[in-house]
Amino acid sequence: MNVVLLGPPGAGKGTQGDLLSERCGVPKYATGDILREAVRRGTRLGREAQRYMEQGELVPDEVVLGLVREALASGEAQDGFILDGFPRTVAQAEGLEALLEARGTALDAVVFFSVPEDELVQRLSSRRVCGDCGAVYSVGSDGRRDVGSRCPACGAKLELRDDDRPETVRVRLRVYREKTEALLGWYGRHEEMLRELDAVGTVEEVQKKLLNLLDCT
Ligand code: ADP
Ligand code: ADP
Repeated sequence: MNVVLLGPPGAGKGTQGDLLSERCGVPKYATGDILREAVRRGTRLGREAQRYMEQGELVPDEVVLGLVREALASGEAQDGFILDGFPRTVAQAEGLEALLEARGTALDAVVFFSVPEDELVQRLSSRRVCGDCGAVYSVGSDGRRDVGSRCPACGAKLELRDDDRPETVRVRLRVYREKTEALLGWYGRHEEMLRELDAVGTVEEVQKKLLNLLDCT
């Protein structure tokens, strides 16, 4: 199973990607997570990426393509992979296609997470991440986890992501519309590749729909 999870910020790609990865035993690679880890560690990549991330803009295509090339070469991905938050531009999608072709493989499905904008804004303002283990929660209720100020998994403090502040969220939604939404048309050219997921509902409801779309039982 080679799958891309595509959709606007806050649509639930990370949450569903983790569940899918666990359920199907294939690794999930989220370029946002890899970049945040580099920022946290203060590496050269992290310092370069941070300038873009804190503005809500996209990190240059060559940089993220390099990260994905590295992840797919790691060996774990030989029986399948889930990409979350990548590709985000047509250039990245072209780069991915070339990369997979060189490895003698291709994508099986691109799942588009469809969520109305007011729900996205609500989800992003409620998102809290653990400063230590990176687990993601919601302060309101996502129908499943309703958390306080400490990470239920490791006890560290939960934080609002810097780029989840309302001013940056507005920029990220605009960037999504300007640069990422075009991928719907791009992947839509390949019959049966693009599958639309109505990603509104509880986490469990959405998971069920996702497993159905991918014919996973
Ligand atoms: P979200 O979960 O809200 O969709 P991510 O964690 O995927 O956000 O991404 C956070 C930030 O990291 C983005 O706003 C962007 O700056 C950078 N980033 C992540 N993935 C990519 C990508 N594929 N291309 C360019 N920038 C990216
Ligand atoms: P993305 O990776 O697409 O940016 P996340 O998976 O991080 O999205 O989800 C964004 C926020 O919404 C998180 O706080 C998460 O707990 C919450 N969330 C995820 N799925 C749902 C859902 N089905 N209903 C309500 N909230 C959700």
